[in-house]
Amino acid sequence: MTQLPHAAKDLPELTAEDRQRYARHLSLPEVGESGQRRLAAARVLCVGVGGLGSPVALYLAAAGVGTLGLVDGDCVEATNLQRQVLHGTSDVGSRKVDSAERRLLALNPALRLELHATMLRAANARELIRGYDVVVDGTDNFATRYLVNDACVLEHRPNVYGSIFRFEGQASVFAHADGPCYRCLYPEPPPPGLIPDCAEGGVLGVLPGLIGTIQATEAIKVILGLEGTLTGRLLMVDALAMRFQTLALQRDPECPICGASPVIREPIEYRELCGWMKDAEEKKDMNGIPQISVHELKRKREAREPHLLLDVREQWEHQTANLGGHLIPLQELHLRVHELDRDLEIVVHCRSGARSQKAAEMLRAAGFHRVANLSGGIQAWSREIDPGVPSY
Ligand SMILES: [Zn+2]
Repeated sequence: MTQLPHAAKDLPELTAEDRQRYARHLSLPEVGESGQRRLAAARVLCVGVGGLGSPVALYLAAAGVGTLGLVDGDCVEATNLQRQVLHGTSDVGSRKVDSAERRLLALNPALRLELHATMLRAANARELIRGYDVVVDGTDNFATRYLVNDACVLEHRPNVYGSIFRFEGQASVFAHADGPCYRCLYPEPPPPGLIPDCAEGGVLGVLPGLIGTIQATEAIKVILGLEGTLTGRLLMVDALAMRFQTLALQRDPECPICGASPVIREPIEYRELCGWMKDAEEKKDMNGIPQISVHELKRKREAREPHLLLDVREQWEHQTANLGGHLIPLQELHLRVHELDRDLEIVVHCRSGARSQKAAEMLRAAGFHRVANLSGGIQAWSREIDPGVPSY
């Protein structure tokens, strides 16, 4: 499987400085001098330097992993700081890979960094992953998670997986030493409508620290060739009850990519499932609901065309950023439809346009005939009309 350069002659010699810095590793029999040299020779790709990628990159840099590749196309936002400990307040607005570079080189100046300020795509996934020995998946969406898995299977690279949601997290090592891959567990991504909106779902800030640190541990064990990795096991963490459980995983002979007769031969580009309504922005109608742009809403407001703006987000979101209008959270809508005027045009909005589409369909089913969805939601408003409305 993996082509880690294990031959002692290929490994870099440790300097006097290295011996001092890594003294606590050198005295561990499981690491020792040869293990530390293996770490120095290793090339690890962190896909995402957000919540999970923060502890992964920090601990791997501190541990003496020689080369870290960082893939992330995003910039640091204020809402990231609650959990993405690699970035600081003064980094808001910087590219995440640049902010990560500053912090990681301050921690370990000998580290070699390769920055990829881009999204992982079907077109670049195999080539990027091929250049590294181990891949750590720190992504926050299904589209990229399947890309990482598929490219790792096709390129025979271990995939150190982690994911988080609210108070729960998972970790495993896929596509390693004849173990299963992510598709052995979940052959296909869930349909878009079933995915909660990222902001709606929420996550405890400490949780990615916990799961990312487990991923860093596993990456180091894979590099050192140690037994006892999470290969063939799924670790499930419930931080609310503080319970850790492991589930034995089998490789699925029917797996569409690592099974006996694979049907997937190249990585598949899934639509961005979180924020999937972006695609609807070009559409005029979705499931019978007219889609209106933020520019159209602005025109309506300026022309004082009678309409009701209905916000179906949560109370805290309305307090964070709002366009005015009437607030009824999606979960309460079916109990509170009597508050709405059936004769007025209703423009429903949320953060990205996904929840408001559900709300509009619900209102249509309840007999409201003049209902439209604001495509792109308050994020599009903030981006295209008024940057003074915070994007979160
Ligand atoms: Zn598989």
